[in-house]
Amino acid sequence: MTKYKLEYIWLDGYTPVPNLRGKTQVKEFAEFPTLEQLPLWGFDGSSTMQAEGRSSDCVLKPVAVYPDPARTNGVLVMCEVMMPDGVTPHASNARATILDDEGTWFGFEQEYFFYQNGRPLGFPEQGYPAPQGPYYTGVGYSNVGDVAREIVEEHLDLCLAAGINHEGINAEVAKGQWEFQIFGKGSKRAADEIWMARYLLQRLTEKYGIDIEYHCKPLGDTDWNGSGMHCNFSTKYMREVGGKEYFEALMAQFDKNLLDHIAVYGPDNDKRLTGKHETAPWNKFSYGVADRGASIRVPHSFIKNDYKGYLEDRRPNSQGCPYQIASRVLKTISEVPLSGSASAAA
Ligand code: ADP
Ligand code: MN
Ligand code: MN
Ligand code: MN
Repeated sequence: MTKYKLEYIWLDGYTPVPNLRGKTQVKEFAEFPTLEQLPLWGFDGSSTMQAEGRSSDCVLKPVAVYPDPARTNGVLVMCEVMMPDGVTPHASNARATILDDEGTWFGFEQEYFFYQNGRPLGFPEQGYPAPQGPYYTGVGYSNVGDVAREIVEEHLDLCLAAGINHEGINAEVAKGQWEFQIFGKGSKRAADEIWMARYLLQRLTEKYGIDIEYHCKPLGDTDWNGSGMHCNFSTKYMREVGGKEYFEALMAQFDKNLLDHIAVYGPDNDKRLTGKHETAPWNKFSYGVADRGASIRVPHSFIKNDYKGYLEDRRPNSQGCPYQIASRVLKTISEVPLSGSASAAA
């Protein structure tokens, strides 16, 4: 038997953005535990905005498991928060009620800032660094500093070793701003991996004395880009059948549901989706081929391929909950009839 360090990780009850929480229990297993072998566990919900002090127990239900490459015999356990009965999802548990479909693929582009001493990493104590321009995909000390690349590389390796489908990295438009991409088949799979990748990044940067700032417009109304979490998506139907007529019906439905999408695309998005800095205004739906100033960008390949492939919803922001974003996209898709079929299922 081997003693494994099980890190149970969950989302707390803070609004509008939950925090990641985690605690460890050590348990013996003959080999690396499967999800089914991992027991329910509890925590004090009164300390996480998930219960009143008098009856404070909440239950952690393991829903995904990954090796923890930073620890000897470590296990990362993604959990849903349940009521004390262990079967009723807690009100803060978005994952329990979302739509899912393995045939729908999601690629999230998580942007964020490194922060130190209350400002983006690399910003001087007073004022601003040289204006935006050379930082995006930049190289060299004056563009990316001396530690950011070490962190993003270490994060990439941690994610890959944990079996997370990390697909790439780039330095972003603002100084101190970076992006990583996660791809997954199904909303739960992709969203679990985003949360786990966020967890690994936050835990990794502790030792550097650096925080991750996920706010979508941390520098306010200035000439510094905000952070998004573009949601690239494709259903099986979009990849295999598609067509102009279906595409236009889908876009009309996205337009119709504008406010329902914005409601779950992350807080303060009106400060980011201004129409400037490669964004579309939050209150007006648009789409365009290769247009980074549209709500939905249609890749060139999509048109060339007879309106087949994936689309990029550029509106979700860096603080958004990937469970709710993916579910909302699936809901709108489910409302559009498939050509030549009465069924609305995608
Ligand atoms: P850009 O920065 O140009 O918008 P990225 O390369 O950062 O693009 O991100 C593209 C994203 O699209 C990746 O997360 C990738 O996984 C995702 N993607 C590619 N093909 C598909 C597909 N068929 N369905 C869903 N997502 C996809
Ligand atoms: Mn990108
Ligand atoms: Mn980007
Ligand atoms: Mn993008």
